[in-house]
Amino acid sequence: MSRSRIVIVGAGFAGYQAARTLSRTLRGAAEIVLVNPNDYFLYLPLLPEVASGVLEPRRVSVSLAGTLPRVRLVLGEVDGIDFDGRRLRYTDPEGGAGELEYDRLLLTVGSVNKLLPIPGVAEHAHGFRGMPEALYLRDHISRQIAMAATSDDPEEAEARRTFVVVGAGYTGTEVAAHGKLFTDSLARQHGRTEDRSGPRDDRRPRWMLLDIAPRVLPELDERLAKTAHRVLTKRGVDVRTEMSVKEATSEGVLLDNGEFIATRSLIWCVGVRPDPLVQDVGLETDRGRLVVDEHLRVPGHPEVLACGDAAAVPDLTQPGEITPMTAQHAVRQGKVAGRNIAASFGYGSPRPYKHHDLGFTVDLGGIQGAANPLHVPLSGPLANLVTRGYHLASMPGNRIRVLADWMLDAVLPRQAAQLGLVRSWSVPLESSSPEVAKVPAPGGRR
Ligand SMILES: Cc1cc2nc3c(=O)[nH]c(=O)nc-3n(C[C@H](O)[C@H](O)[C@H](O)COP(=O)(O)OP(=O)(O)OC[C@H]3O[C@@H](n4cnc5c(N)ncnc54)[C@H](O)[C@@H]3O)c2cc1C
Repeated sequence: MSRSRIVIVGAGFAGYQAARTLSRTLRGAAEIVLVNPNDYFLYLPLLPEVASGVLEPRRVSVSLAGTLPRVRLVLGEVDGIDFDGRRLRYTDPEGGAGELEYDRLLLTVGSVNKLLPIPGVAEHAHGFRGMPEALYLRDHISRQIAMAATSDDPEEAEARRTFVVVGAGYTGTEVAAHGKLFTDSLARQHGRTEDRSGPRDDRRPRWMLLDIAPRVLPELDERLAKTAHRVLTKRGVDVRTEMSVKEATSEGVLLDNGEFIATRSLIWCVGVRPDPLVQDVGLETDRGRLVVDEHLRVPGHPEVLACGDAAAVPDLTQPGEITPMTAQHAVRQGKVAGRNIAASFGYGSPRPYKHHDLGFTVDLGGIQGAANPLHVPLSGPLANLVTRGYHLASMPGNRIRVLADWMLDAVLPRQAAQLGLVRSWSVPLESSSPEVAKVPAPGGRR
């Protein structure tokens, strides 16, 4: 008799944990298939450290085949699901089409960059939701500092040394905090060729962090916001709250107060929306996320579950609310989904998803951080230590490699080496797959 097949779509925080739970619980009693465009789990919270040259990209990319025994990995992106026929279609990384039948299906496709209808933004801004964008940004930043150092045109040099981040949530705040340290280090290295003292004050890189909200980290505890604001401003980041962008051009950005900021770097961190597959599959949604019950089941389809950023999971700790899009929830929901699927085969018993928020950690670069583990507010080096310790404990692999990069970064200058492998056009802001860099169409010239 053939084994039942469980298909998990998406190997992010939720999908990875579900696969691991199922592999450990079922121990081969059912076939577990994981469909994902890449062969690694991406530890997104450390992506700002990749963009700023602290961590090498493979440190935050945990091999799926190497860490998930008894799980069959299918490389591909799911583009259609037939719920009545219990089968799905996918496209593999080389454009080939494939089909898979399932007995149980778990959808954990995560989220993509959120767009706002602001003229020029889709063309001139870059998001921060995947590895290709982080690699692009690291090279782009290095290139701007290098070209600014040799430009004879002071206005062009100033624009190249100016970086604008829109959105002061945890992603934008970390990108600006790490980015400023990165560019200061690069500018010092280029400054050595000018005179021994490094760059003059008017040649220092300039970072701006904008948000429409009245404070940075608007979604987190106010005490974390105060710490982050203090660290950022002390570091020289120009924090502008209650402010947004009216228009973006290739020369810079027009703020909504009429001020024009000349820049070649607009980094878009205004938030995320569920992966477009959620709309495409035609199931009921709430705030764009798939409707599920507290057992993570899709109503009307008892064999289909969903969780993580893609699903509107009821928050049993705050009746009427749905859980926020965070790794903290996605990880735990993935475990519950795995457990509930195993229970549907007679292994263990199902349980509802309920999790009390445990606080948040924000790495502000250097030895700075802001954290409130178990709602105890921390700042400075202690917060940084707690944040890094939390990340190490949360990563399902590569811990020694990450630790080694942190130790190297503590004693060595940042590496100014552009590999140029990811180009601007291959990481458009509007993308249904920010985890994959676009490639030219066959026969294309780029
Ligand atoms: C830069 C950054 C920093 C963050 N920092 C924190 C933090 O410090 N703390 C915190 O709690 N949260 C943080 N978050 C949020 C957190 O990463 C997300 O909430 C979490 O990743 C959601 O998990 P998920 O499993 O739903 O989706 P993801 O982890 O995004 O995984 C989705 C997976 O599905 C795959 N996929 C997408 N579409 C398809 C398809 N059609 N077919 C097959 N596979 C598909 C993707 O490639 C991906 O592997 C951060 C997010 C970002 C972008």
